[in-house]
Amino acid sequence: MAVPVAQQRKLTQRSGNICAFPECGLLLTAQGTPEDPVVVLGEMAHIVAESPNGPRGDSPLTPEERNRYENLILLCNQHHQLIDSEGALAKYTVERLHAMKEAHEQRIERRLGGRSNVSSDLPPMVNDTVYSNVLPVTQMPRYIYGAPCSARRENEVRPAATSAGMMTPFILREGRLWAFQDLRDTSNPFADVVACTETERFSTKEWWTDPDRLGWYVALLNRSLNKLTGRLGLRLDHDHHRYYFEPEAAGVERSVPYRPLNASRATRSVVWQPKKRATGEARNYWLHRAVSLRFFLIGDNQWCLSVRPELRVTSDGFESIQAKYIGRQVTRKKSRLFNHDLLGEVQFWRDFLGRSTPRIFFPFGTDRQNLIVSTSLSSGQVRWPGIPAEHDMPFKNVEYVDDLFTWAEAEGLSEDDDPADEGDEDAEEMLR
Ligand SMILES: [Zn+2]
Ligand SMILES: [Zn+2]
Repeated sequence: MAVPVAQQRKLTQRSGNICAFPECGLLLTAQGTPEDPVVVLGEMAHIVAESPNGPRGDSPLTPEERNRYENLILLCNQHHQLIDSEGALAKYTVERLHAMKEAHEQRIERRLGGRSNVSSDLPPMVNDTVYSNVLPVTQMPRYIYGAPCSARRENEVRPAATSAGMMTPFILREGRLWAFQDLRDTSNPFADVVACTETERFSTKEWWTDPDRLGWYVALLNRSLNKLTGRLGLRLDHDHHRYYFEPEAAGVERSVPYRPLNASRATRSVVWQPKKRATGEARNYWLHRAVSLRFFLIGDNQWCLSVRPELRVTSDGFESIQAKYIGRQVTRKKSRLFNHDLLGEVQFWRDFLGRSTPRIFFPFGTDRQNLIVSTSLSSGQVRWPGIPAEHDMPFKNVEYVDDLFTWAEAEGLSEDDDPADEGDEDAEEMLR
């Protein structure tokens, strides 16, 4: 597949026909012979290689996207060879080449001093890495087992504790009990209530392609989340399908230790009674950190876990206050969980759920059957006008996530932020 002519032209023009490599400055056309008047020296180098096996080729870009202007950089032959050479690939990353190209094109524009025909209040486009609150599942159980079950209701089933730490989520559907443990094995945790000899086994992938079974599968995953969060001491808010912290004793605030990426320990308030900033007087409601967790399937057998930080409001640390009484206040608080705030919260939750390890682990008894979620944040490349200057935090590299987090904390945006302090008196009145 070749680079379309329009894309070639755009690249050559925007590069000023000069090699984009810093300090090179080589003009990429030269005077030739009378028979062949112009010699083209420029090479359109692929930032992400045209083929997946080529330099920087491991990318979700489609073959068509790989041959577009956005993925090409104009270089001289020498610099093209340099960036594609085996030993230099770690140095000339996709991000670095995009930055190189961006800087070069801006230099060309400035040097030429041309008058732009684009309205000047359009912000310049930048390449950014943005992080999402979605964690990739790196391993799903291979099989689901189902066997006829004598129990009619789920609360009649008491799975036996077998190996230490094993989670035993299950669902009852169509007279059968479904679980990740091998029900053919007579020492399985459900042996009391299932007919082991009549066990059926399905590959999980088979279930994902059937809409009904997919629903069952998600139910089983949700039971698994209940197990995980239960072990971590979180409570389930059935109405909102989210998990939250409760105080350990009435009237006592709570915080938990966690580890930011920079490995230093920190603590975070998880249940607290906000105080009025001016007087220090306690308000008449409590805030609880909460999280909505949801497994979902994207594309070809790739599962993800979305981590959505939320807040629960109670009157005394236990009794939930209905949304209609708190509406504006908490809505406003939520709507402020943007960018760095959100990342800081997601960072807290992934550390907490993963117990400060690189993964969230759901042990179902055997290596092949375990469910594992990576706690590395998914990221994607975007080209966009960027974050407005006042929020322009360094989102560009994963190592900056820490700075981001520290910054959010330093600004007091997450720990003791008090939604009523910014003067929503109506909302405050509603809580009195
Ligand atoms: Zn190349
Ligand atoms: Zn060059």
